[in-house]
Amino acid sequence: MLIGSYSPSLVFVSLCVAVLASYTALDLTGRIATAKGRAVPLWMAGGALAMGIGIWSMHFIGMLAFSLPIELGYDLTITLLSLLIGVMSSGFALWLVNQPSLPLGQLAYGALIMGAGISAMHYTGMAAMRMQPGIDYHPGVLVASLVIAVVASAAALWIAFRLRRQSPHVRLVRGGAAIVMGVAIVGMHYTGMAAANFAEGSFCGAAGSGLSGNGLEYLVLITSLAVLAIALLTSVLDARLETRTADLANSLTLANQELTQLALHDTLTGLPNRVLLADRLDQAMHMVNEGGGCFALMFIDLDGFKPVNDAFGHHTGDQLLREVALRLRDSLHGQDTLARIGGDEFVLLVQLREPNDAPSVAAELVDLISRPFRVAEQDLQISASIGIAMYPGNGADQHELLMNADAAMYHAKSAGKNGYSFFDGSMNTNARKQLQLLQDLRMAQELGQLRLHYQPKFDALKGHPVGAEALLRWEHPQLGLLLPDKFIVLAEKTGLIIPIGEWVLDEACRQMRVWALQGYSHWRIAVNLSALQFCHAGLVTSVASALARHQLPANSLTLEITETTAMSDADASMTVLQQLSEMGVDLSIDDFGTGYSSLMYLKRLPANELKIDRGFVRDLEQDSDDAAIVSAIVALGQALGLRIVAEGVETNLQQSFLTQLGCDSLQGYLLGQPLPAECFLADIRRSEREAMVT
Ligand code: C2E
Ligand code: CA
Ligand code: CA
Repeated sequence: MLIGSYSPSLVFVSLCVAVLASYTALDLTGRIATAKGRAVPLWMAGGALAMGIGIWSMHFIGMLAFSLPIELGYDLTITLLSLLIGVMSSGFALWLVNQPSLPLGQLAYGALIMGAGISAMHYTGMAAMRMQPGIDYHPGVLVASLVIAVVASAAALWIAFRLRRQSPHVRLVRGGAAIVMGVAIVGMHYTGMAAANFAEGSFCGAAGSGLSGNGLEYLVLITSLAVLAIALLTSVLDARLETRTADLANSLTLANQELTQLALHDTLTGLPNRVLLADRLDQAMHMVNEGGGCFALMFIDLDGFKPVNDAFGHHTGDQLLREVALRLRDSLHGQDTLARIGGDEFVLLVQLREPNDAPSVAAELVDLISRPFRVAEQDLQISASIGIAMYPGNGADQHELLMNADAAMYHAKSAGKNGYSFFDGSMNTNARKQLQLLQDLRMAQELGQLRLHYQPKFDALKGHPVGAEALLRWEHPQLGLLLPDKFIVLAEKTGLIIPIGEWVLDEACRQMRVWALQGYSHWRIAVNLSALQFCHAGLVTSVASALARHQLPANSLTLEITETTAMSDADASMTVLQQLSEMGVDLSIDDFGTGYSSLMYLKRLPANELKIDRGFVRDLEQDSDDAAIVSAIVALGQALGLRIVAEGVETNLQQSFLTQLGCDSLQGYLLGQPLPAECFLADIRRSEREAMVT
């Protein structure tokens, strides 16, 4: 018998190739598992080729590591056949482990086929030597090599199947598994070799004509290494590309979702915005037109939001809006849409079973909003005015529905707020009237229709007049004499208040100058300023030039600003007030007690006077709370060195009460109505004469 020997270094190299081939196979399996579409068969074919070449070259290097005392060679055709078998077995294995599931039966079956394939490759490779006489295989060892091939295949398939998905440390685990698989493959090969006995005197039929020679092992090694390296590299790069593409696709989807969210939702509250509302409204109208039924469109406007915003700042205002949105949203049913379409304006689209359901829904919302909100550690009290338009009935299209709901909302506001109104046709007439009034107002100043009436202020104790408040009137050609509540809001909304306010300032100063020349230079003339004028840059110069034009000392002019105006945007107000105060102008805080007074802030204001709001004076006799408030305001004002004026004094009782409480001056219908300048002076003179008589 011929005794074979092995080159240990080549055996080691064959083991390394086996491990590398196994690793490549595992990696490719993972690649195929995550690849999609046309990439799958491509990876499968490429993978089978690389893996087949890998396994086969291990086997071939293992053969080259073996030498016999005779010259050896390998038949080219048969060798190529063994390579083909290796590639096909690899392809089969890759296909198998990329099935969605791998039940035990299938695994066993697959292991059998793959084991047979590898064995076939090995023994075909052996046959390429074309030994004469044929190789004599030891049956026991031969069977052992077959069993090893099948068991190793089973293990390899199972490992590859388990490791095909990406998981933490997958490379490390694959590395370990590749070593196990490599050892198994090598084990099969050398067991198979051990089964081979070469009879004494045999010769190799392929020697000379077949593959042989020095350096062949290196050629095979380098080629297979190159193939494996390329396969591995491609796989790794492709996996990276795929992850990056997936990441990119993910972030695109996310960005897309965010954009849609942004485009269709209000950023502050997350509620649908006008655009989404329009879409839902369209759908709702369509549904009603097709299948009947009805819905209500409710225009919700918050009452008293602006003062909160002014007094506590935007941050608190924003938070309040969020809380309102949350509370409203919690009360909704699935198919309803709540949208925020402006500052403190919400619109609710409610599906109704019948029109009669609308009032209870609206009443519930009004009630919901009227409960206090806890925001930034404050209890804030606001309310809602709701206007309701029904579909079908109150509008043919979206625009009309919204307009009508809006008109109904204004109606609810003017009916006392904190309630709801249904739209009816007359409301549109109101809107038209407002529009007409606005057009008239634009001309009023030019046409000389504006007037000032004057209401006296009296010293509470001594009873003599200390000045007058100028109150604006509009002599409307058709509507007669209009009071400020009919047009001031309109003037403020449109900015007309700025020129009108300048006129008031100038006219009041002119009148005061006349009175000063008539002997009343100790009086002060009070002019009301609206918030808009107060924010207007030209205010300080307007005041200065009005005073100069009519040669008045600054302290004969009192500017009345409401508490809310003074407190809004505290820092800006402070600057303006400071400038006016430095000029010597007298400053009065009007309607005191109705806003959210901040005492700290009040202390810093350069004011000279506090005017207690009419509301407290009105109920002074019945309501002991109001008496307590008034006396607290008086005490506060005295502590801050401010004059206290009570306005709206209508009864003798109120007068004596307020005088007792320590008010400095009084103003009200009891003591004098607002009158045109001539009548005003006549009245004053009459009372002076009476005082002289008594
Ligand atoms: P206000 O500054 O609180 O003015 C006092 C209002 O109370 C006046 O109403 C006056 O007629 C009324 N009043 C006076 N005494 C009594 C009384 O004993 N009982 C009752 N119930 N009311 C009394 P008016 O003239 O209708 O003015 C309403 C508001 O319009 C004013 O409130 C002021 O805020 C604003 N306003 C008036 N004139 C001007 C102006 O020239 N410019 C600006 N921006 N606002 C003005
Ligand atoms: Ca006033
Ligand atoms: Ca007032």
